[in-house]
Amino acid sequence: MTAAATSTIGAHYVEPSATETLTPGDKIADLFARNMQGPVVQRLTDRVWWVEAFNYQTIFYVGDESVLVFDAPEGISPMVAGAIAEVTDKPVTTVVYSHYHADHIADINVFVDAAKARGQELTIVGSSKTVEKMRLVGSQYPVPNQVIAWPTDSFQFEGLTVQLHGFEWAAHTDDHSAWLLVQEGVVHSPDLINPDQPPFWRFAGNERFLFSAENLRQVRDLEWTHLSGGHGNIGSREDIDFDLAFMEDLVAAVGEAMGKHDFMSFISPDATAHTPFLADWIDAIAADAVDALRPKYGELYGYEAATRPNAEMVAFSMFEHR
Ligand SMILES: [Zn+2]
Repeated sequence: MTAAATSTIGAHYVEPSATETLTPGDKIADLFARNMQGPVVQRLTDRVWWVEAFNYQTIFYVGDESVLVFDAPEGISPMVAGAIAEVTDKPVTTVVYSHYHADHIADINVFVDAAKARGQELTIVGSSKTVEKMRLVGSQYPVPNQVIAWPTDSFQFEGLTVQLHGFEWAAHTDDHSAWLLVQEGVVHSPDLINPDQPPFWRFAGNERFLFSAENLRQVRDLEWTHLSGGHGNIGSREDIDFDLAFMEDLVAAVGEAMGKHDFMSFISPDATAHTPFLADWIDAIAADAVDALRPKYGELYGYEAATRPNAEMVAFSMFEHR
């Protein structure tokens, strides 16, 4: 067993509690070890709870009559339903799709079937962009039946206002967005950031690194005290600032490595195809960048596994966007 990784932001860690609300900025201690054993449940506010198991995470809101859940992450939603049942006997009537990715909605039938068993139809809220993207990719999951306007709209759930803040130029997916639970001061934006960890593989599986920092700044500027990122610990603005600083350092390290490795030296007239030239150049740049950042970030959670693919992504983005 290795020791738990160092916090990215020098966080204050606490034991999880399903009954006591969390002081903004505090984080769950030993989250990786805990969540590999089963669900970790933390009460964030009077009405919002956070649940993570096996490195997937979501939140739910308990209203006077019923429960609103965000996403249905693959493989863990039965545990989320179990966590809800520990907190309240009110039924889940509504689920929000944060974005169309299958790994965040694949367990939707856990909630569809439970509603059906009560003789009700589950309300699934999503943006018009999510509906469009689900049709485009041939998603096998039920599309939202309460569609709100992209990129900015809101809906009411009992007394709660939930605002959609879509990223018009999104890094992660075309329909990527942040969902703000206004009265609770909680924002939910899976795959934007893994709080208390350096950026995950390819910046949390994003499609376009180019817009990553801008999307982070857009969320930072909203009114909230707790951030739910779909993975990782409970987030604060310090986590966003950490990611922005990390990206800035990585861009600088990649830029320096690009200056050191002349592309022409990766070209060989004796090769049988040109195919490896760009790949080998990017590989060399990424390897240098990972080495350059290791003294500052190397002890942080998952650095070695995540940073090489992130550096490759940054290198290609910088190559194409000049
Ligand atoms: Zn995703």
